[in-house]
Amino acid sequence: MLKDNHNRPVNYLRLAVTDRCNLRCFYCMPEEGIEYMPKAELMSYEEMIRIVRVMVGLGISKLRITGGEPFIRRDMMDFLGEMSRLDGLHEINVTTNGVVTAPLVPALKKLGIRSVNLSLDTLDRKLFKEITRRDDFEKVMKTFEALLSHGISTKINTVMMEGKNDNDLLPLAMLTKDHPVGVRFIEEMPFNGGDAHYDQLWWSHRRILETLKNYFPDLEKIPDPPSSTSYNYKIPGHQGTVGIIAAYSRTFCGTCNRIRLTPQGLMKSCLYDDGVFNIKNLLRAGASDEQLAHSVLEALGNRAKDGFEAEARRRFGLPVSESMATIGG
Ligand code: SAM
Ligand code: SF4
Repeated sequence: MLKDNHNRPVNYLRLAVTDRCNLRCFYCMPEEGIEYMPKAELMSYEEMIRIVRVMVGLGISKLRITGGEPFIRRDMMDFLGEMSRLDGLHEINVTTNGVVTAPLVPALKKLGIRSVNLSLDTLDRKLFKEITRRDDFEKVMKTFEALLSHGISTKINTVMMEGKNDNDLLPLAMLTKDHPVGVRFIEEMPFNGGDAHYDQLWWSHRRILETLKNYFPDLEKIPDPPSSTSYNYKIPGHQGTVGIIAAYSRTFCGTCNRIRLTPQGLMKSCLYDDGVFNIKNLLRAGASDEQLAHSVLEALGNRAKDGFEAEARRRFGLPVSESMATIGG
């Protein structure tokens, strides 16, 4: 089993396959003037397949495909097909904004994609447009319906934003009444590409919980899966569950089992670090699989104990301001 220097098992890779996106969520990306990475800097599918294979050899058994928006990268479904055939990889999950995903859902089901996280911050079409700067609410809802009708385990990710979707907490939580979905409310983080102002955390995990309890006084705590980033609850009589992710308060670092790869091949051993080494550059310089594996192990042998230490150790300075689209969430 792969372990870090704090004896935490690490079995989960989050792979951001592109920094490009068809939305412009204001908490993630500036509206204009985005400098995407040059294509040559992005890992090719062949490179990603080799790197994932090396990581699976070390003990990674669970993969999340994220981005940017994964499904706007050309031939994404072929890549997912390759991943689904990798021996040793037991679980593949995907995070998507759902804009172009609905027609792909039957193929995702066929490939055995275990679960899909769908980002949805509001059930109000006008507010959706204001938050994402695109008028694509209906398409996202089509994806939601397609996921449910194909029986793919679905979680909704909602970033809570002061003065924006405050009134959406209730209707989003109510989706769990008739649907077997997990709706997770996430603390906003400062990863917005440096455009949006981030002065304080307005919607903390405590406030989210208090608000949920106000709406649903019988809210029941349920056990959290191992290494879960969310605290999970059930509203009595509802089919689904609600969760709270303290992404800014970082209460979950003690059991963190995940590493990240950015689209240009930067390995991150914590969401809050600014990359520990670039595995694609090593590969392009001719490193063998053993050398790649050695570098991963070395990075895990020097992993920050939590997101606060990782943030303090950033080499390229503070504050955190890169876009989440280059990290993958
Ligand atoms: N484009 C896909 C999507 O939106 O689902 C995948 C990538 S997106 C970066 C992954 C997750 O990060 C989304 O659920 C999004 O809501 C979340 N995210 C982006 N910026 C964030 C921020 N500043 N704070 C908290 N969560 C953020
Ligand atoms: Fe795109 Fe996802 Fe970022 Fe929104 S959160 S801009 S959908 S990458």
